Amino acid sequence: MADRQDAEKDVNGGWLSELFAPVAGFGVTFREMFRRTVTEQYPEQKVPPQPRFHGRHQLNRHPDGLEKCIGCELCAWACPADAIYVEAADNTEEERYSPGERYGRVYQINYLRCIFCGLCIEACPTRALTMTNDYDLTGTSRAGLIHEKQDLLGPLLEGMVPAPHPMVPGTTERDYYRGTVVQAVSEQRAWVEAHGERAGDVPAGSGGTSAGPAPEGEVAQ
Ligand code: SF4
Ligand code: SF4
Repeated sequence: MADRQDAEKDVNGGWLSELFAPVAGFGVTFREMFRRTVTEQYPEQKVPPQPRFHGRHQLNRHPDGLEKCIGCELCAWACPADAIYVEAADNTEEERYSPGERYGRVYQINYLRCIFCGLCIEACPTRALTMTNDYDLTGTSRAGLIHEKQDLLGPLLEGMVPAPHPMVPGTTERDYYRGTVVQAVSEQRAWVEAHGERAGDVPAGSGGTSAGPAPEGEVAQ
């Protein structure tokens, strides 16, 4: 019995630890008092997040500038927060935004609802929708946090021309998905020059309108 009591004392640390037990919780506080203070100078200095951080979404383009979104709505169906609203329309020879039949005419993401789970990008069959590292998502109004297509479209990179424009001559939509289209060709550039840059496709953040303001009922609230 005496041996058992001694063993219990050893486990509990003896009378010394019993004496300091009430103040032991302050150990963490004291330790932190002598550590270097870390102050984030946000927003003047932005610390880059980890590469796989889920931030603002981006609607991607093919290498010639056509949009990858085909308006299939799978992202909207996959979203557990009902934060995405998509409305598709048919491409025509005079007004083509993506290879194939359809494109996303209206595309909205409601960042008041989004929980950044990434299910929408997993559901997208064309890799049109991905997530960036951008975490600056603030606004002064509820409406301002509903991002429209022109806010989400990726920028025009080198080799791209703004949609709408025809596909690369002699190609089908399969060629786009096989990666055989690598940049806009002279026929596409000539078409865009002849028709002028439409207000419908401008680099993200330049303040243009893509699908135009959606009617009120279309806003995914
Ligand atoms: S990240 Fe999640 S919550 Fe946000 S839009 Fe995509 S599926 Fe919806
Ligand atoms: S982003 Fe992808 S899943 Fe969503 S409508 Fe466009 S193609 Fe379909």
